[in-house]
Amino acid sequence: MFSSKEGFKAAFLDKLETMYGKSFKDSTPRDQYNTLGHMIREYISSRWIATNERNRTENHKQMYYLSIEFLLGRLLGSNLMNLGIWKMCEEGLQELGISLNELEENEADAGLGNGGLGRLAACFLDSLASLNLPGHGCGIRYKHGLFDQKIVNGYQVELPEQWLRHGNVWEVRRHDQAVEVSFWGNVETSKIDGKLEFHHRKAEVIMAVPYDIPVVGYDTETVNTLRLWNAEPVPFPPNNQNVLVYKRETEAVSEFLYPDDTHDEGKILRLKQQYFLVSASLQNIVKLHRERNGTLRNLHEKVAIHINDTHPVLAIPELMRILLDEEKLSWEEAWNITVNTVSYTNHTTLSEALEKWPVRIFQPLLPRIYMIVEEINERFCRDLWDKYPYDWKRIEDMAIIAHDLVKMAHLAIAGSHSVNGVAKIHTDILKKREMQLFHEYYPEKFNNKTNGITHRRWLLKANPQLASLITDTIGPGWIRKPTELQALASYKQDAAFREKFHGVKQLRKELLAKRIEEQTGVRVDTNSIFDVQVKRLHAYKRQLLNVLHIMHLYNRLKEDQSFTMHPRTFIFGAKASPGYYYAKKIIKLINEVAEKVNNDPQTRDRLKVVFLENYRVSLAEDIFPAADVSEQISTASKEASGTGNMKFMMNGAVTVGTLDGANIEIQEEAGTDNIFIFGLTAEEVLHYYQSGGYRSSDYYHHDKRIKKVVDQLINGFFPDGGDEFEAIYDSLIVQNDEYFVLRDFAPYVDVQDLVGKTYENRNRWLEMSISNVARSGYFTSDRTISQYAFDIWHINPVFARK
Ligand SMILES: *Cc1c(COP(=O)(O)O)cnc(C)c1O
Repeated sequence: MFSSKEGFKAAFLDKLETMYGKSFKDSTPRDQYNTLGHMIREYISSRWIATNERNRTENHKQMYYLSIEFLLGRLLGSNLMNLGIWKMCEEGLQELGISLNELEENEADAGLGNGGLGRLAACFLDSLASLNLPGHGCGIRYKHGLFDQKIVNGYQVELPEQWLRHGNVWEVRRHDQAVEVSFWGNVETSKIDGKLEFHHRKAEVIMAVPYDIPVVGYDTETVNTLRLWNAEPVPFPPNNQNVLVYKRETEAVSEFLYPDDTHDEGKILRLKQQYFLVSASLQNIVKLHRERNGTLRNLHEKVAIHINDTHPVLAIPELMRILLDEEKLSWEEAWNITVNTVSYTNHTTLSEALEKWPVRIFQPLLPRIYMIVEEINERFCRDLWDKYPYDWKRIEDMAIIAHDLVKMAHLAIAGSHSVNGVAKIHTDILKKREMQLFHEYYPEKFNNKTNGITHRRWLLKANPQLASLITDTIGPGWIRKPTELQALASYKQDAAFREKFHGVKQLRKELLAKRIEEQTGVRVDTNSIFDVQVKRLHAYKRQLLNVLHIMHLYNRLKEDQSFTMHPRTFIFGAKASPGYYYAKKIIKLINEVAEKVNNDPQTRDRLKVVFLENYRVSLAEDIFPAADVSEQISTASKEASGTGNMKFMMNGAVTVGTLDGANIEIQEEAGTDNIFIFGLTAEEVLHYYQSGGYRSSDYYHHDKRIKKVVDQLINGFFPDGGDEFEAIYDSLIVQNDEYFVLRDFAPYVDVQDLVGKTYENRNRWLEMSISNVARSGYFTSDRTISQYAFDIWHINPVFARK
């Protein structure tokens, strides 16, 4: 079917007719997209079966990656690319008058995630399959992914996302694998032969039905599985419940993704989702293991379960429940198996983002799980007492349940054998500060795994023009081994290469400029610097610092006719959590500044500001290749790693950033000459917090530039402003600027000035840009996944005959 162009064309036309009962000339682009999608799924089905067969018969250790989010984006293009049939399909379709790039636009993004954490899970799946590793994803099939964002009058408006509206060609419903998940009710304890037994009575039962999505590796036979669970009513509602109420409440469990990147929503439904994911996945994993091994006693030798942040941490008590109540193992043996099976990644040190569940919510919803967590806590505290007798404070601080709260991170650390941070500095902060007591008690559990991104989606697929230039220059080896991109470094002085490299960037800027004009009506100058900040909107990410700098540039242009600067286009993309008032005000502010500077005849040739609505994976794929400058300006110590920073680097954008998260490792790789670092260090920030020695009003009063832009937030500068930005003003002045925006303002202005001057030296800039691409290989998620596989999961490649 895909072995020759002619064969492909014939098969495509045939498939389209049988699927839709109409002829090609009457087909719509969506029919054509669906046809191609189905053909690919059929094409890979034999490899999918073979991968599962091999895993079963050869009994390889399997890894399951449990994540409440998978931000996949579109799958058609990456599947065609990984299967090595993109070009053939493109040519074949072209002969039928179809553009493959346009066909791709018919696929809705699978937006089952908020941002970095969910996208990381998606990159990991791609690397696992591409490295032939037996690793699978377990998640929730949300009916509505992250909301669609519209900008109306400068404000964010949220619309429900509907990715399943036209069906999903990639998924297969596996009703035969459905399992039941129990909530509420009570636990009956009885003693049988002197042994306690526990029975969950009067539970409300929900059916979890898996939908499987194949995960295709690059140029391999491996097809792993992403299993997404759908919540459905059981045929006969238990406890004589009202059928309609029961149905509605059941379906709500997999209805919406919680649209919050950092805080916990504090809703029962959220806890229900977490247990639903974990219980369905664990039951399924255990069943498969039992079929293959006949016992659960060697589970930890054949299964690794990874929890992506604390959202799936109930995997620990759920596995204990299965081993104790169903398998009837002793506590000690069950605990040993559980700890050795589970590993945990921490994603943040922001205290408001650490999950803590009130006992009054947890206990009634999950009565048996709560009993087990209590027992885990008691035994843990006893062990602490043995090591630190009479150190009440320490034991209280480390307890899993304290002050009527269940601390999910504490449970994750106690119940797993590995705890990792996601960048060097983040792991150091975990060890030395945030989780210091745990690190003292369990030093051997802590390790670092710096995040990565799949270079296949973010370079090969998103930027085919740059990928071709690289392959023409250094050969195709980098696709399998991205560290070979290093060979580009020797071409950075090569004038001919530099010009081609420049040509690719210009082409991508022109493509983005076209899209910007279509979407916003703003015409941007492709000779200007494309200065980009795209990521979730959050105070700690400091979009505000970027905006205040733009306001300052505007003020300079207005005040000083002799001031010159290289023209710049500031590009933003960001969704704010719907309940995050402050973040939404920042979006409005960006759009107000855009309105002002884009329309002022004195500034519009040199300054442009655009806000691209509905930032998501497919839009990101058009943005990164076009960026000159990558804005990574979080308050130092706050961004655990960042992965957007890596996508920019791989596409030749130069970073303007603080020494935070993976920016530090980007600097180490690219070299200090090829990055623009500014601002407070993490140590300085933490010192300020401890000493209380920061006064934002000092910076306001002593720097005229700051006073001017801050006053402009409230003095009528924005025609449509009113008291719109009072909350932002207050955050800076009244609430003493928690994120040090004013403290870092002057260094940021200086470094941005240097960016502009450096850009004017075209050769110097191209050298910097090329150096970044050349050193970006370290940030492939293949490296990250190899480290997880070797150090934590102990899984090995399953080599296939090809
Ligand atoms: C990479 C990515 C992110 C994460 O960006 P950060 O800058 O690391 O916060 C968020 N959303 C999308 C769509 C992405 O592709």
